[in-house]
Amino acid sequence: MLTSIFLSIIANISILSTASYMFVKLIPKKRTYTLNVKQHLMMLVVSSLTSFLLMLFAVDLPKGAIIDLRHIVLVLLVYYVGPTVAFPTAIFISVLRLLLGVNTSSIRTAMMYVVLGLILPMVCKKLVKQVNNKYAVLLILNVICVISIALNSYFLYDNFLVYLLIYSSFFVLSSLVVILAITFIEDLLKSLSLYLDEKEQAKIDFLTGLYNKRAFTKKWQRIEVDETIATSALMLIDIDHFKGINDSYGHANGDFVLRQLATILKVGVADNELIYRVGGEEFCLILNDLSYAAQKNIAETIRFRVAHKEFLLENGTSIQLTVSIGLAASDQVKDMKKLYRLADQCLYMAKNQGRNKVMGEILDNE
Ligand code: GH3
Ligand code: MG
Ligand code: MG
Repeated sequence: MLTSIFLSIIANISILSTASYMFVKLIPKKRTYTLNVKQHLMMLVVSSLTSFLLMLFAVDLPKGAIIDLRHIVLVLLVYYVGPTVAFPTAIFISVLRLLLGVNTSSIRTAMMYVVLGLILPMVCKKLVKQVNNKYAVLLILNVICVISIALNSYFLYDNFLVYLLIYSSFFVLSSLVVILAITFIEDLLKSLSLYLDEKEQAKIDFLTGLYNKRAFTKKWQRIEVDETIATSALMLIDIDHFKGINDSYGHANGDFVLRQLATILKVGVADNELIYRVGGEEFCLILNDLSYAAQKNIAETIRFRVAHKEFLLENGTSIQLTVSIGLAASDQVKDMKKLYRLADQCLYMAKNQGRNKVMGEILDNE
């Protein structure tokens, strides 16, 4: 008897640990996300299957009652995913309980899970606002479930002491498993968050805070297949005689100037992700779905702003500098290589024609 209870407990804990791992794996690898229909369904399948397995390994009690940790699936879903998955899972648990045998005990349990599925999300919402600790919130939800389960089974026992012993052990065990599950899930979520941080850092240029060439290439690949974007243009911006600035004022001042230039480029461009530092003192802007006149206007504005800005040096004095801009536009084609080559040629022309100039061309459609 004791051995079978012990084995059921071990099985329940193992099933829940595996399920917690799968829950986290189903979470999209993004910082902000909403689950789509497919992800909702997958979560539902995992939680339903988990509940089913937990019930299979339940401890049998008198009068057809069973005891297991399936309510923890509900508690975790309510907290980490929300009612859209938690409530259908509660319904599934109820149906499954009835399929395992219709008796007074199973009918009561089925009804109890429907009620818990409705009430727990509301309680959780209130608790999250008031209690600033996820362990406390989840443990309170567990207490609500344990009390419901215990009250639901009260009529089964003639001996109150046995009843008290069973449900106080159940309370202690389920609380420990909840703590274990939270620790496990939080640990996995932390790794996910670190991974996302690293991924974001890999796209950013540490000096200017702008996106780097790697991010530029990735963005362009997405633009090339994005049917909502009809035309794209590319603007290459290169500082004039930057080597001279380094030579005259030092590399550190050169860096300082680069950071200030990045700030100018950020202003006036709606989406930060469209400005990139693609080389030492070369920057690139992607302009989507704008007329050629509007593109030239942006290029001219940047050139003008840079030429009129006082760039600070570390000793408090300031210098002025200029940029040359090559603009490659296109009526139809969204071919990065061709546009980049054309923008580079235009930049070369701007340099040849005395610098502090914007040169633009529209790519020929072959
Ligand atoms: P041009 O007008 O023809 O563009 O002349 P330039 O001197 O700007 O062009 P060139 O490409 O010959 O020199 C670019 C210089 O940019 C060379 C390098 O020392 C400097 N540079 C590249 N990356 C960095 C950086 O991260 N920090 C600093 N301070 N300088 C850099
Ligand atoms: Mg250069
Ligand atoms: Mg230069």
